[in-house]
Amino acid sequence: MTYEEMVGLLADRVTLNEKTIERFKMYAALLKEWNEKINLTAITEEPEIVEKHFYDCLIPTNHDLLDDKLICDLGTGAGFPGMVWAIAYPKCVVTLVDATGKKCTFLREVADKLSLTNVFVVNSRGEDLNSREHFDIVTARAVAPLNILLEVCVPLVKEKGLMIAMKGAKANEELAASKKAIERLSLRVLKIEESILPNEESKRYNIIFKKDKKTEKKYPRSWGEIQKKPL
Ligand code: SAH
Repeated sequence: MTYEEMVGLLADRVTLNEKTIERFKMYAALLKEWNEKINLTAITEEPEIVEKHFYDCLIPTNHDLLDDKLICDLGTGAGFPGMVWAIAYPKCVVTLVDATGKKCTFLREVADKLSLTNVFVVNSRGEDLNSREHFDIVTARAVAPLNILLEVCVPLVKEKGLMIAMKGAKANEELAASKKAIERLSLRVLKIEESILPNEESKRYNIIFKKDKKTEKKYPRSWGEIQKKPL
Protein backbone atom coordinates (compact mmCIF):
# COMPACT_ATOMS: atom_id res chain seq x y z
CA MET A 1 0.00 0.00 0.00
CA THR A 2 1.30 3.46 -0.84
CA TYR A 3 0.89 6.47 1.44
CA GLU A 4 -1.50 7.98 -1.16
CA GLU A 5 -3.67 4.84 -1.07
CA MET A 6 -3.76 4.96 2.72
CA VAL A 7 -4.84 8.61 2.70
CA GLY A 8 -7.64 7.80 0.22
CA LEU A 9 -8.90 4.72 2.07
CA LEU A 10 -9.07 6.59 5.37
CA ALA A 11 -10.44 9.88 4.04
CA ASP A 12 -13.86 9.49 5.67
CA ARG A 13 -12.26 8.90 9.11
CA VAL A 14 -9.19 11.07 9.40
CA THR A 15 -7.50 13.94 7.60
CA LEU A 16 -3.88 13.02 6.95
CA ASN A 17 -2.10 16.14 5.69
CA GLU A 18 1.38 16.48 4.18
CA LYS A 19 3.07 17.11 7.51
CA THR A 20 1.47 13.97 8.95
CA ILE A 21 2.61 11.84 6.01
CA GLU A 22 6.13 13.30 6.41
CA ARG A 23 6.06 12.10 10.03
CA PHE A 24 4.92 8.62 8.98
CA LYS A 25 7.83 8.46 6.52
CA MET A 26 10.31 9.44 9.24
CA TYR A 27 8.78 6.84 11.56
CA ALA A 28 9.15 4.11 8.88
CA ALA A 29 12.80 5.13 8.33
CA LEU A 30 13.56 4.96 12.08
CA LEU A 31 11.78 1.62 12.33
CA LYS A 32 13.95 0.16 9.55
CA GLU A 33 17.13 1.67 11.01
CA TRP A 34 16.53 0.48 14.60
CA ASN A 35 15.24 -2.90 13.48
CA GLU A 36 18.78 -3.77 12.44
CA LYS A 37 19.93 -3.32 16.07
CA ILE A 38 16.93 -4.49 18.08
CA ASN A 39 14.06 -6.75 17.11
CA LEU A 40 11.09 -4.44 16.63
CA THR A 41 9.08 -5.91 13.76
CA ALA A 42 9.18 -8.69 11.18
CA ILE A 43 7.71 -6.26 8.65
CA THR A 44 10.47 -4.23 6.99
CA GLU A 45 9.33 -3.34 3.43
CA GLU A 46 7.80 0.12 3.35
CA PRO A 47 4.54 -0.79 1.48
CA GLU A 48 3.98 -3.48 4.12
CA ILE A 49 4.78 -1.11 6.98
CA VAL A 50 2.16 1.26 5.56
CA GLU A 51 -0.52 -1.44 5.25
CA LYS A 52 0.09 -3.76 8.21
CA HIS A 53 1.21 -1.17 10.73
CA PHE A 54 0.02 2.34 9.84
CA TYR A 55 -3.23 1.59 7.97
CA ASP A 56 -4.13 -1.36 10.20
CA CYS A 57 -3.73 0.77 13.34
CA LEU A 58 -5.93 3.53 11.92
CA ILE A 59 -8.87 1.24 11.00
CA PRO A 60 -10.65 1.58 14.38
CA THR A 61 -10.18 5.36 14.60
CA ASN A 62 -11.89 8.62 13.70
CA HIS A 63 -11.75 12.23 14.91
CA ASP A 64 -14.89 11.94 17.06
CA LEU A 65 -13.48 8.93 18.87
CA LEU A 66 -9.92 10.14 19.52
CA ASP A 67 -9.75 13.95 19.49
CA ASP A 68 -9.08 15.42 22.97
CA LYS A 69 -8.92 11.95 24.58
CA LEU A 70 -6.42 10.54 27.09
CA ILE A 71 -5.29 7.23 25.63
CA CYS A 72 -3.10 4.35 26.81
CA ASP A 73 -1.60 1.75 24.47
CA LEU A 74 -0.55 -1.25 26.50
CA GLY A 75 2.21 -3.51 25.13
CA THR A 76 2.82 -1.01 22.34
CA GLY A 77 6.09 -2.63 21.15
CA ALA A 78 7.39 -0.40 18.36
CA GLY A 79 4.40 1.94 18.83
CA PHE A 80 1.40 0.06 17.46
CA PRO A 81 -1.27 1.33 17.55
CA GLY A 82 -0.47 4.20 19.98
CA MET A 83 2.32 6.05 18.15
CA VAL A 84 0.32 5.87 14.91
CA TRP A 85 -2.71 7.38 16.67
CA ALA A 86 -0.60 10.17 18.18
CA ILE A 87 0.81 11.05 14.73
CA ALA A 88 -2.57 11.01 12.96
CA TYR A 89 -4.50 12.75 15.79
CA PRO A 90 -2.37 15.57 17.23
CA LYS A 91 -5.23 16.50 19.60
CA CYS A 92 -5.16 13.23 21.55
CA VAL A 93 -2.60 12.47 24.27
CA VAL A 94 -1.14 8.97 24.20
CA THR A 95 0.74 7.06 26.89
CA LEU A 96 2.73 4.21 25.36
CA VAL A 97 3.44 1.38 27.81
CA ASP A 98 5.84 -1.49 27.26
CA ALA A 99 7.66 -3.89 29.57
CA THR A 100 10.78 -3.95 27.34
CA GLY A 101 13.26 -1.15 28.02
CA LYS A 102 14.90 -1.12 24.56
CA LYS A 103 11.56 -0.66 22.84
CA CYS A 104 10.87 2.32 25.11
CA THR A 105 14.22 3.84 24.12
CA PHE A 106 13.17 3.52 20.47
CA LEU A 107 9.76 5.07 21.18
CA ARG A 108 11.32 8.08 22.93
CA GLU A 109 13.64 8.58 19.96
CA VAL A 110 10.68 8.52 17.54
CA ALA A 111 8.68 11.01 19.64
CA ASP A 112 11.74 13.26 19.83
CA LYS A 113 12.71 13.12 16.12
CA LEU A 114 9.11 13.64 14.99
CA SER A 115 8.65 16.50 17.54
CA LEU A 116 5.53 14.86 18.99
CA THR A 117 4.38 16.68 22.10
CA ASN A 118 1.39 14.39 22.73
CA VAL A 119 3.30 11.18 23.54
CA PHE A 120 4.46 9.81 26.89
CA VAL A 121 6.51 6.61 27.12
CA VAL A 122 6.36 4.41 30.24
CA ASN A 123 8.62 1.39 30.70
CA SER A 124 6.46 -0.81 32.92
CA ARG A 125 4.28 -3.88 32.97
CA GLY A 126 0.66 -2.86 32.56
CA GLU A 127 -0.47 -4.55 35.77
CA ASP A 128 2.12 -2.55 37.78
CA LEU A 129 0.98 0.85 36.49
CA ASN A 130 -0.24 3.41 38.95
CA SER A 131 -2.98 4.90 36.77
CA ARG A 132 -6.25 3.27 37.85
CA GLU A 133 -9.47 4.65 36.34
CA HIS A 134 -7.42 7.24 34.44
CA PHE A 135 -7.74 6.89 30.65
CA ASP A 136 -10.67 7.62 28.31
CA ILE A 137 -9.48 4.81 26.06
CA VAL A 138 -7.10 1.89 26.58
CA THR A 139 -6.05 -0.13 23.56
CA ALA A 140 -3.79 -3.06 22.73
CA ARG A 141 -2.80 -5.00 19.61
CA ALA A 142 -1.17 -8.46 19.61
CA VAL A 143 -0.30 -8.54 23.33
CA ALA A 144 -2.19 -11.41 25.03
CA PRO A 145 -5.33 -13.56 24.78
CA LEU A 146 -8.40 -11.39 25.32
CA ASN A 147 -9.40 -12.61 28.83
CA ILE A 148 -5.86 -11.94 30.12
CA LEU A 149 -5.57 -8.65 28.24
CA LEU A 150 -8.82 -7.34 29.70
CA GLU A 151 -7.73 -7.91 33.30
CA VAL A 152 -4.51 -5.97 32.70
CA CYS A 153 -6.06 -3.13 30.69
CA VAL A 154 -9.52 -2.47 32.09
CA PRO A 155 -8.48 -1.22 35.59
CA LEU A 156 -6.75 1.65 33.75
CA VAL A 157 -9.94 2.73 31.93
CA LYS A 158 -12.14 5.47 33.44
CA GLU A 159 -15.70 4.62 34.39
CA LYS A 160 -17.74 4.92 31.12
CA GLY A 161 -14.50 4.81 29.12
CA LEU A 162 -13.58 2.43 26.32
CA MET A 163 -11.29 -0.54 25.78
CA ILE A 164 -10.39 -1.22 22.15
CA ALA A 165 -8.91 -4.68 21.54
CA MET A 166 -7.35 -5.09 18.09
CA LYS A 167 -7.63 -8.75 17.20
CA GLY A 168 -7.06 -11.10 14.27
CA ALA A 169 -8.86 -14.18 12.97
CA LYS A 170 -9.43 -15.77 16.39
CA ALA A 171 -11.36 -12.80 17.80
CA ASN A 172 -14.70 -14.59 18.13
CA GLU A 173 -13.20 -17.60 19.93
CA GLU A 174 -11.34 -15.26 22.28
CA LEU A 175 -14.51 -13.32 22.93
CA ALA A 176 -16.40 -16.52 23.77
CA ALA A 177 -13.62 -17.46 26.22
CA SER A 178 -13.82 -14.03 27.88
CA LYS A 179 -17.39 -14.15 29.20
CA LYS A 180 -16.29 -14.26 32.81
CA ALA A 181 -13.72 -11.50 32.36
CA ILE A 182 -16.33 -9.30 30.66
CA GLU A 183 -18.76 -9.81 33.54
CA ARG A 184 -16.25 -9.43 36.41
CA LEU A 185 -14.80 -6.29 34.87
CA SER A 186 -18.28 -4.72 34.22
CA LEU A 187 -17.79 -4.50 30.47
CA ARG A 188 -20.23 -4.37 27.61
CA VAL A 189 -19.36 -5.14 23.98
CA LEU A 190 -20.36 -1.97 22.12
CA LYS A 191 -19.38 -3.24 18.69
CA ILE A 192 -17.13 -5.55 16.76
CA GLU A 193 -15.77 -3.99 13.59
CA GLU A 194 -14.73 -6.51 10.98
CA SER A 195 -12.40 -5.52 8.16
CA ILE A 196 -9.89 -6.94 5.73
CA LEU A 197 -6.44 -5.60 4.89
CA PRO A 198 -6.76 -4.71 1.17
CA ASN A 199 -3.59 -6.33 -0.23
CA GLU A 200 -2.62 -8.82 2.44
CA GLU A 201 -6.27 -9.90 2.80
CA SER A 202 -6.10 -11.00 6.43
CA LYS A 203 -9.15 -10.41 8.60
CA ARG A 204 -9.10 -7.88 11.40
CA TYR A 205 -11.57 -7.55 14.25
CA ASN A 206 -11.58 -4.49 16.44
CA ILE A 207 -13.64 -5.11 19.55
CA ILE A 208 -14.88 -2.02 21.39
CA PHE A 209 -15.93 -2.45 25.03
CA LYS A 210 -17.57 0.08 27.32
CA LYS A 211 -16.71 -0.01 31.02
CA ASP A 212 -19.95 0.50 32.98
CA LYS A 213 -18.57 0.59 36.52
CA LYS A 214 -15.31 1.14 38.40
CA THR A 215 -13.11 -1.96 38.58
CA GLU A 216 -13.02 -3.90 41.85
CA LYS A 217 -9.76 -3.23 43.73
CA LYS A 218 -8.72 -6.89 43.55
CA TYR A 219 -8.04 -6.54 39.80
CA PRO A 220 -5.52 -6.72 38.27
CA ARG A 221 -4.02 -9.61 40.18
CA SER A 222 -0.28 -10.27 39.85
CA TRP A 223 0.94 -11.43 36.41
CA GLY A 224 1.65 -14.91 37.85
CA GLU A 225 -1.93 -15.29 39.10
CA ILE A 226 -3.45 -13.86 35.93
CA GLN A 227 -1.55 -16.44 33.87
CA LYS A 228 -2.20 -19.35 36.22
CA LYS A 229 -5.92 -18.69 36.68
CA PRO A 230 -7.16 -16.45 33.88
CA LEU A 231 -10.64 -14.98 34.39
N1 SAH B 1 1.37 -3.82 20.04
C1 SAH B 1 2.55 -4.06 19.22
C2 SAH B 1 3.54 -5.03 19.89
C3 SAH B 1 3.06 -6.44 20.08
S1 SAH B 1 4.29 -7.49 20.78
C4 SAH B 1 2.15 -4.50 17.84
O1 SAH B 1 0.99 -4.75 17.58
O2 SAH B 1 3.03 -4.57 16.96
C5 SAH B 1 3.78 -7.46 22.49
C6 SAH B 1 4.45 -6.38 23.29
O3 SAH B 1 3.79 -6.33 24.54
C7 SAH B 1 5.91 -6.63 23.60
O4 SAH B 1 6.65 -5.49 23.23
C8 SAH B 1 5.97 -6.88 25.12
O5 SAH B 1 7.12 -6.32 25.70
C9 SAH B 1 4.71 -6.17 25.60
N2 SAH B 1 4.03 -6.72 26.78
C10 SAH B 1 3.54 -7.98 26.93
N3 SAH B 1 2.90 -8.11 28.12
C11 SAH B 1 2.95 -6.88 28.72
C12 SAH B 1 2.48 -6.34 29.95
N4 SAH B 1 1.81 -7.11 30.80
N5 SAH B 1 2.72 -5.05 30.23
C13 SAH B 1 3.41 -4.27 29.36
N6 SAH B 1 3.90 -4.71 28.18
C14 SAH B 1 3.68 -6.00 27.85
